[in-house]
Amino acid sequence: PAKTMDELVSLCKRRGFIFQGSEIYGGMQGAYDYGPLGIELKNNLKAAWWRAMVYERDDVEGLDAAIIQNKNVYKYSGHEDTFTDPMVDCHECKSRMRADHMKDIKVCDNCGSTNVTEPRDFNLMFKTNVGPMVNEESYTYLRPETAQGIFTNFKNVVDSTSRTLPFGIAQIGKSFRNEITPRNFIFRVREFEQMELEFFCKPGEDEKWHEFWVGARKQWWLDQGLAEENIEFEYVTGDDLAHYSKSTVDILYKFPHGFEELEGVANRTDYDLGSHTKAQEEFGLSAKVKQNEHSTAKLAIRDLEANKWEVPFCIEPSAGLDRGLLAVMTEAYTEEELPNGSTRTVLKFKPHLAPIKVAIMPLKKNKPEIVALAKELKNKLQKLGLGRILYENTGNVGKGYRRHDEVGTPICVTVDFDSIEKEGAPVTVRDRDTMEQIVVPAAELPAYVVNYFIN
Ligand code: ATP
Repeated sequence: PAKTMDELVSLCKRRGFIFQGSEIYGGMQGAYDYGPLGIELKNNLKAAWWRAMVYERDDVEGLDAAIIQNKNVYKYSGHEDTFTDPMVDCHECKSRMRADHMKDIKVCDNCGSTNVTEPRDFNLMFKTNVGPMVNEESYTYLRPETAQGIFTNFKNVVDSTSRTLPFGIAQIGKSFRNEITPRNFIFRVREFEQMELEFFCKPGEDEKWHEFWVGARKQWWLDQGLAEENIEFEYVTGDDLAHYSKSTVDILYKFPHGFEELEGVANRTDYDLGSHTKAQEEFGLSAKVKQNEHSTAKLAIRDLEANKWEVPFCIEPSAGLDRGLLAVMTEAYTEEELPNGSTRTVLKFKPHLAPIKVAIMPLKKNKPEIVALAKELKNKLQKLGLGRILYENTGNVGKGYRRHDEVGTPICVTVDFDSIEKEGAPVTVRDRDTMEQIVVPAAELPAYVVNYFIN
């Protein structure tokens, strides 16, 4: 794994994974742009999540709710009142910082002075104006989590799919938080993506499902290549619990800057649906909610056995996509010493996550038959739908291998003189991790590649 953030940042920029946002204007703190390879990696990680959370289950539906929502969503969700971080100001160097890692004695992160203010609450939501009139009422917020769109669509999804408990709704999308001190590359940023599942179950079955999802989510991260020894659980208690949570287990990963939260799995009880439902008094809610004077929908489900309406409990595994990508890159980053004494940098991504699946390299870029066969193979492999297949026409195979090691391409295929002269058109297939090369007849390459990526 990567030992320092700097080596990751530098590789990400050099090879086109991640760039500082608004770089040509001096940057925008807490915002990053994903480059040609970053977008592929991100899409692959999202696809893996969606496959595991929606396609491979029979009890989850998908959703893509709007980022801008009625401001009442945040009034009743509790975000307007409580979605804050403690912040202190330093009297010496005039900087401002998040204080939640500071214990009894408060010390400035920037200059080390203890001459700082008492912590005060800072709301992390971005406020924005909606419509052409700017007045006291015309505001809303950019969503600070995707979850609320799921709760407000609960009735729509139940009515349109006839779901009964237990079932979940999954969503991936952007969230925004005006973090006081964004830092550690894409670990803490102001614009990021979340992959969230809200899993609804009967009250009383919540603890069982909570435990289930903690285990399932850890396993998923292992399946994305994270090593068991780099994952830890943290049981969040007392004051550290979010306003909606009965209990939370954070899944931590050993990032270059230490063990930090990668995903939170929270038992949100009946807080959210209870907050957003009309006729709250009918349900005997267990959570303490604000009295709702605006909702027009009953966010409850009919319990056929007990013959009554019930507000489900909700378990939420909430993962950060950017943090996930950072974890996957950290884990994949490998510096290897080769038998000849040189070193190579390899990103040992799981094949399904690799931004480029196969690179096809003609040995000679000015030999038409070689070029033609290489292009034909590229087109054939591209049609398999596995992701990006790169036709790499630099004519320098050694350099090509090194570059593709560094971006984690699992397979490189070279087309050489043998391929156009010998029977069966043999091409050379080189494996990223073992660096072993085998010869495969061109006609069998698609089957070889499918077999490699599907298993
Ligand atoms: P933290 O304590 O690190 O601020 P949190 O507990 O506020 O995180 P949650 O509200 O539980 O985070 O959000 C769920 C997930 O969303 C987190 O586990 C993380 O992966 C991701 N996430 C939250 N805030 C950010 C951020 N500012 N930048 C990147 N990812 C984030």
